[in-house]
Amino acid sequence: MRPFEYERAEDPAGALATIARPGTAFLAGGTNLVDLMKLGVATPDRLVDLGDLPYDEIEVPAEGGLRIGALVSNSDLATHDEVRSRYPAVAQAVLAGASGQLRNRATVGGNLLQRTRCRYFQDVTKACNKRAPGTGCDARDGEHHDLAILGASPQCIATNPSDLAVALSVMDASVHYLGPHGPAAVSVHDLFRRPGDRPDRDTNLPPGSLITGVVLPECPLAAGSRYRKVRDRASFAFAAGSIAAALDVRDGLVHDVRIAWGAVAHLPWRTWALERALRGAPARAESYARAAEAELAAAKPLRDNGYKIPLLRNLTVELLEAMTP
Ligand code: SF4
Repeated sequence: MRPFEYERAEDPAGALATIARPGTAFLAGGTNLVDLMKLGVATPDRLVDLGDLPYDEIEVPAEGGLRIGALVSNSDLATHDEVRSRYPAVAQAVLAGASGQLRNRATVGGNLLQRTRCRYFQDVTKACNKRAPGTGCDARDGEHHDLAILGASPQCIATNPSDLAVALSVMDASVHYLGPHGPAAVSVHDLFRRPGDRPDRDTNLPPGSLITGVVLPECPLAAGSRYRKVRDRASFAFAAGSIAAALDVRDGLVHDVRIAWGAVAHLPWRTWALERALRGAPARAESYARAAEAELAAAKPLRDNGYKIPLLRNLTVELLEAMTP
């Protein structure tokens, strides 16, 4: 690992001042960044440890919803009573990721900013437009069975690895941050981006921004939400496909539905076409399958990841059937 400077931020203003210096990176739990530094993928000259900043609380605001500090650990998030009872898909998604030890260290902000696990991104001897823009993409003709089928570009077919982000998409969460012009917020739908011709950029956050927290709006539908994840082995693995869903059925018809898929795109994939197709439809397997197929019509699988199309369709039908009263 390259030598680097280390300092602890005493307050948010100090963190922002330091991150403005070239070669500086924020350090929260370090569960992804430190691995990337060991691999030579991340090469910061200076780390600013955020551990002393006041963003480690989960609060219930007077206006409803839930405010989650960016430094709340994944373990504390997943076991919080309000999260488990009012936003269960969030707790289930967090528990589906990593291991107990990693969840104790990993933070909410870090979870959202973790980098893709594309094996070529993590190998500095390979061509990768995300790690080294303009070098190419070895995944396209190489090992890509776990990579994107939706929203990819010729430059990059990476997937977003966050389980939490998929659940937050269903909750219509907003991400709050301190940017160059002061406090700001962005919908989780606009936080992440498609790779386009800038796959080196994972999010739309202005450079040097400090995530301070996530706000979950009040949402009665969320109380029945669920998260499911399919992976190559039973634990401690990234998804081959995943789904977060919330469903409201009245008189046998789908009154409201929200679904997001994970491990299919560069961002958590909110299934707007599926939801449009399903609202007002009979709440049964045939409708669920047809709606999933409407969303998957845009899929562009490569040689080895076409299995994700039936996987996501079947996962959607199975979960919605299980949620149908
Ligand atoms: Fe890099 Fe993206 Fe290609 Fe993976 S898919 S090698 S991250 S450019």
